[in-house]
Amino acid sequence: MTNKKFSWLNVLLVDDSLPILNFVTTVLSEKYGVSQIAQATSAEEALDLLNNNQQLNLLFVDLNMPKVDGVQLLEKVKEANYQGYIVIMSGVATRIISSVELLAQQYKLNHIATLVKPLHENDFDSVFAKLGQSRESTHAEPSLKTYEIIRAIKDKSFKVYYQPQVSLIDRKFVSVEALCRLDHPRLGLVSPDRFIDKAEESELIQHITTFVLKKSLANWRRWHKMGFDIGICVNVSPYSLQFSSFADEVTELLATYDVPAEMLCLEITENILANDQAQELNNLSRLSMQGIKIALDDFGKKHATIDRLQRLPINYVKLDKSYFIEHEGSNKQLELLNTSLALAEKLHISICAEGIENREAMNLATETNCDLAQGYFIAKPLPAKDILSWAHTWTQNT
Ligand code: C2E
Ligand code: CA
Ligand code: CA
Repeated sequence: MTNKKFSWLNVLLVDDSLPILNFVTTVLSEKYGVSQIAQATSAEEALDLLNNNQQLNLLFVDLNMPKVDGVQLLEKVKEANYQGYIVIMSGVATRIISSVELLAQQYKLNHIATLVKPLHENDFDSVFAKLGQSRESTHAEPSLKTYEIIRAIKDKSFKVYYQPQVSLIDRKFVSVEALCRLDHPRLGLVSPDRFIDKAEESELIQHITTFVLKKSLANWRRWHKMGFDIGICVNVSPYSLQFSSFADEVTELLATYDVPAEMLCLEITENILANDQAQELNNLSRLSMQGIKIALDDFGKKHATIDRLQRLPINYVKLDKSYFIEHEGSNKQLELLNTSLALAEKLHISICAEGIENREAMNLATETNCDLAQGYFIAKPLPAKDILSWAHTWTQNT
C-alpha cells in the first residue's frame, strides 16, 4: 500500500482506553500513512470534535463507553449530521454488534466495517481496502451542484440510454434497462453517478424518475410497433417508494402510453434502507399485484440482503457487477454467489448477471445458471434509435 493513498483521511478515534487509542493511532499512521488523527476518550468529547470539525471523514467508535453507550452515541452522531465513514470497534457479543450495525444502517450512517476486540494490526486491512475502493468509485468525478440538476430539469436536458439484456438460455434479446444521462452545457453527457445521489437528497429525484419512465414507455410503444416485445427496466430510487402516490403514478403512465404492466420492471436498490418500510412494501405490493416486475439491483454489493429478498415481492435479482468484474478473491465471492443463487431459485426469483465485459464472464454467468446477462460484452447503453440495428446484428450473430 502506498503511503500517500490515504492522506485525504481525517480520522477521529473514540475509545475510553488510552492504550487502544495509541495502538490504533500508531497503526493508522505507520501502516497506512494517515496523518490527521484526533482522539476522544468520551462520547461528549467526540461529539464536540464532530460538531466543530466538518473535515472529519472517518470515525472509529467503541461501543462500550462509560455513561453513553454505543447506541446512544450513534444516535448523537446521526443528529450531528455526520456524513463520513464509520468503523465500529467492540468487544461485546456478536449478536449485539449485529443489531447495532442494523441500527447504523437505519440511521443511514455510512458504516463500513466492524472490528472485534482485541484488535490486531491486520484487522485494519479490510477497512482500508474498502476505503480505497470507495474513494476510487465515488470520488472519481465531483458531483454536480443542485442548481445544475434543477437547470437540467427546466431545460429538459436529460437523455435516456438503453442497455440490452439477453437470455443466457437461448441468447435472445429480452429486455433493456433505461439509464439516464444529463446533457450538461459545459461537460457534455454526464454519468448518473455524478447527479443521482445529489438528486436523491430532495424531491428532484422524482422529476428524474418520472422523466425516465415517460421516455422509456414512449420508446417501448415505438419498439412494439416495430415488432419487438421486449421488457423495459427502469431504476427507481428508494426515495420515490416513500411516496404513497407512487404506485398510482406508475399505473397512470402505463395507461397513458398503453404499455402492459408485465412489460415494465422496476429496479430497486438494496443499499439504502428505507425510512418507512411499510410505505415501501405498500407501493411494491400494489405495483406487483398489477403485474409489474420488481428487481433487486446491485445484489451482493453490501450485506443484509437476504432479508429483503424474503420480505419483498421480488421477481429478479441483479447480481452486482463486481461479481463478474473483480475476479480476484473470487473464492469467497463465488461462495456468496452460490448461496444467493440457491436462495433465489427456492424463491422462484430470476437472476440477471451485470457487468459482463468479456466471454469468460459470459461463460461464468452461464455456468452458474444465471438467467439473464447485461454488460459491455453484449452491448453498451445505447440511444433509443440504435437499439434496432443492434438487435439486428445480435440476432444475426447468435
Ligand atoms: P445500475 O443500475 O447498476 O446500472 C448499471 C450500470 O453499469 C450502468 O452505469 C451501466 O452503464 C454500467 N455497466 C453496464 N454494463 C457494464 C459492464 O460490462 N462493465 C461495467 N464496468 N459497467 C457496466 P450508468 O449508466 O453509469 O449508471 C450508474 C447508476 O446510476 C446505475 O447503476 C443506477 O443505479 C443509477 N441510475 C441510472 N439511471 C437512473 C435513473 O433513471 N434513476 C435512478 N434512480 N438511478 C439511475
Ligand atoms: Ca439498475
Ligand atoms: Ca446494478
